[in-house]
Amino acid sequence: MDSVAPFNTSMKAAQMGITEVAINRAFYTIDILKRDVLYVLPTAINAGDFSSARFNSALLYSDYLSNLFTDTNRINLKQAAGVSLYIRGSRGDSNLKSIPVSTLILDELDEMDQKQIWLALERLSGHIEKSVWAISTPTIPKYGIHRLFQQGTQEHWIFKCPHCSRRTEFIWPDCIEIRGESVEDPDCKESFLKCRECKKQLKQSEKPEFLSTGKWVSDVKDHDPDHRSFYINQLNSFTVSPEDLVRAYFRGLADESAAHEFNNSKLGLPYIGEGAQLNDVLIDQNIKGYTKQDPRPSQGGDRLITMGVDQGNKNYISVMEWFIDTPGRDLNVVASGKLIWEGTRLGSEYEELDKLMYEWQINHCVIDADPEINEARRFARRFPGSVTLSRYREGQVGKEITIQEDELRTPIATVDRTNWIDATLGRFYSQRIDLPRDVSREYREHLKNIVRTYIKDTLGNPQARYVRTGPDHFAHAQTYAEIALPLAASVVRNQPIKAFL
Ligand SMILES: [Zn+2]
Repeated sequence: MDSVAPFNTSMKAAQMGITEVAINRAFYTIDILKRDVLYVLPTAINAGDFSSARFNSALLYSDYLSNLFTDTNRINLKQAAGVSLYIRGSRGDSNLKSIPVSTLILDELDEMDQKQIWLALERLSGHIEKSVWAISTPTIPKYGIHRLFQQGTQEHWIFKCPHCSRRTEFIWPDCIEIRGESVEDPDCKESFLKCRECKKQLKQSEKPEFLSTGKWVSDVKDHDPDHRSFYINQLNSFTVSPEDLVRAYFRGLADESAAHEFNNSKLGLPYIGEGAQLNDVLIDQNIKGYTKQDPRPSQGGDRLITMGVDQGNKNYISVMEWFIDTPGRDLNVVASGKLIWEGTRLGSEYEELDKLMYEWQINHCVIDADPEINEARRFARRFPGSVTLSRYREGQVGKEITIQEDELRTPIATVDRTNWIDATLGRFYSQRIDLPRDVSREYREHLKNIVRTYIKDTLGNPQARYVRTGPDHFAHAQTYAEIALPLAASVVRNQPIKAFL
């Protein structure tokens, strides 16, 4: 609450009262420091809910605060005399860049559009009296809040044990006595917290007393004093019981999304589940003896070949050959694939894609619709029926592909991002993809840079989502080549796509 550092990061478990701290800081900045505040939440909907539930209710309980603000009618802008509180969502075109502020609060950073966030942070770096507060439950290591946390002082809450008087902290599992065997076991109730040093029980009811002896302590040498970063978990919570924690722990043993929930929301720690990220060992097991230089397919042959293109300044391209023993439903599951070529072409040279279409005798190509939709459209028009544009959407069901023609009659497929990346990366785990022995380092890195995690949707339910920890273009090129398989089969066998999903 009283940090004077220009940059503050809070990597925290859920419901630790940290948002309340941020709201207090926002009011303090407006009332006393007379400076503008930009309060950012993941989405515009989050921002609206926050504005009415948290902001307006604070005013309802405080005459002082309601007198401070002269205009509170607009959802995303609250005005006090001469200063403003902007409340915005990070996604879409909320245009955080254009808002002139010296205090920025980012609440639930890991759920935000990371690109927008880094841009906003860059802009603030020029201000002398800047102040940044980044708050979030973590998701995966080295991403979002965990990445920021590691750049700062990394302070933990260190308190004095009422039994042994030693300075200690609550950490899992050292400080918990687990009772019971499973989530339904009534014995879970008997679980309790204990001191890491003397192992004596630390009672839930006595927490307010012994935790108030605490201090934020950093054990990082040579840390940047201008960036204070804090960590806190639910073992410190007055309202979450040891029983709650133990049941959440048992739930996590059985289920991947619950394991994320336990580590992220209860322990406030980043977490990677099994099978959530590729590594070199998993990639190497798919390498075979052939190379990308092997002879090209002959014209008019009956090989089934698709191409995926992730477009941008550079176009990233993946060319796949497919082998199907038993055609029919769930083609992406029954087919085995062989990466016969991957590489890049300049984004300014779309006609290079035409050459690749002929060189590799492509049955079907799927290309990212954005950012250069006009180039993609022209490319599709040069190969009618053989090129489909693609857009990701959250909330499509399974591997469903919805194809609509735009006003220029270009086919655009809408697909669920998580499910199709699952299908693509699943091949690497189950060894249903062959890779050439000269596969590029860049391709490997991009496929390792995309990590599966769980992020809460607007209703608070965990949803699987891939996030990137670095450049990931080839992962998407590969996914587009995968999506192109049922599209190719549909044309070759003259059947609707549905027959292959
Ligand atoms: Zn002790």
